[in-house]
Amino acid sequence: MNDNDNGLLLIFSGPSGAGKGTVLKELLHGNDNMKLSVSATTRPPREGECHGIHYFFMTKEEFEEQIANGEMLEHAEYCGRYYGTPSAQIMDWIEEGRDVVLEIEVQGARQIKEKRPDCVSIFVLPPSLEELENRLRYRNTEDEETIQKRLAVARQEMETARDYDYVIVNDTVEHTVEQINKIIAAEKLKVSRAKSNIERVLNND
Ligand code: 5GP
Repeated sequence: MNDNDNGLLLIFSGPSGAGKGTVLKELLHGNDNMKLSVSATTRPPREGECHGIHYFFMTKEEFEEQIANGEMLEHAEYCGRYYGTPSAQIMDWIEEGRDVVLEIEVQGARQIKEKRPDCVSIFVLPPSLEELENRLRYRNTEDEETIQKRLAVARQEMETARDYDYVIVNDTVEHTVEQINKIIAAEKLKVSRAKSNIERVLNND
C-alpha cells in the first residue's frame, strides 16, 4: 500500500459539554472505515460507561506503568485525573487506510501535533458559555465542584482553539457532522496526500 492511501489521524478537542461525544457517535455511525481510539483514564466510570468501550479505566499506578513502558502515544492530566491514548493499534489502523479519531484535550493534542504533523485537528465549540453550562448541568453526572472546575478549564481550553486546523460551533449535531465530513473529504484531496492519483492518471493505470 502506498503512503497516500493511509487513513487520516483526526483529533477532536473541545470543552467538556461541547457535545463532542454525541457528534462523534453520529459521525462514526455507519462509517466502517473510521475507528475511535479508546483512551485510558484514572477517573471513575460514570453510570453506563463500560471498560474497554468508553475508556480503559485504570488505577494511577497502572497508568504510570503504561507511561513508563512507552505504551501511551500522549497523556495529560485533566481536572486531577490522568487521560491517555494507548499507542497499540492506532498506527496499524492508519496504515490499513482507516481514519482514526482521537477525542482528547488540548495538552494531548499538542503532543500528537508534534509527533504526527500530518494529523488533522478540529476544535468543537459550544454555541455559547451559557449553553455549555446548561449542558454540563443537564448531564447531571458531576457534582457542583466538578462542574465549576470543568467550566474554568473550559474557558482556558477555548482560548487554545486558535491553534487548531479547524474550528466548528456545534449548533446542531447534523450540521456539525456535515462540516466534519467536508473537512475529511477536502483533507483527502490535498496534494500532499493524493499524489498517487496524479501518477495513476498520468501513467494510465
Ligand atoms: P471526560 O472525563 O469528560 O470523559 O473527559 C475529560 C476530557 O479528557 C475531555 O476533554 C476529553 O476529550 C479528554 N480526554 C479523553 N481521553 C483522552 C486522552 O486519551 N488523552 C487526552 N489528552 N485527553 C483525553
